[in-house]
Amino acid sequence: MLLAVVLLLGCITLALSQETETASFFSEEISDSVFALMQGKSYKKDTTIPRSELRLVHVLHYDFDGNIKQGEIICNKAISKDLEDIFSTLFENKYPIEKIRPIDEYDADDECSMTDNNTSCFNWRPIAGSKKLSAHSQGLAIDINPLYNPMVKTRNGKQIVAPRASSAYANRAKSFPGKIDRNDLCYKLFTAKGFSWGGNWKSSKDYQHFEKRIP
Ligand SMILES: [Zn+2]
Repeated sequence: MLLAVVLLLGCITLALSQETETASFFSEEISDSVFALMQGKSYKKDTTIPRSELRLVHVLHYDFDGNIKQGEIICNKAISKDLEDIFSTLFENKYPIEKIRPIDEYDADDECSMTDNNTSCFNWRPIAGSKKLSAHSQGLAIDINPLYNPMVKTRNGKQIVAPRASSAYANRAKSFPGKIDRNDLCYKLFTAKGFSWGGNWKSSKDYQHFEKRIP
């Protein structure tokens, strides 16, 4: 009898934890309160992508100390299901991600967000050093653990690393936790869903960056 009760309780707990986990990876439309927080930050006066095209994705993730944290990603609705699936698999594999907060919490300042090793997606902005809009402006690009996976390029013989605090991670021959390369789980999951990786670019290397082209 006691054994039966213990087994039953165990099953209920397991069912609940599975349900909680499934319910922890989901998307919703941008609410009035979230949209208000985005104003003048990630969502600027000249932003043309309609609010109805964006989604807020809720995820769980492990940080680098093994703690479970909640994350929020604002992205294009065309990739919200991809992100739910990818972050669910990353969670199952205890893949470490330092933090996942909307970039509005950094006043949409990419350098601040990257320096804080924050993973983020939507931000209406040009590509750094260019007038061309970034794929982040459409919510179709995501930067993962950016402090450990900087953008690296050479201009006039000088190496430029973004964020600036990330120069220790510009040498990709080194091995360290959170490093994205072609053996990395993030790389495998994003490319399997049709995303391209900035680490494969030729003129610059953007190791944190995955983006999807939507026809
Ligand atoms: Zn990026």
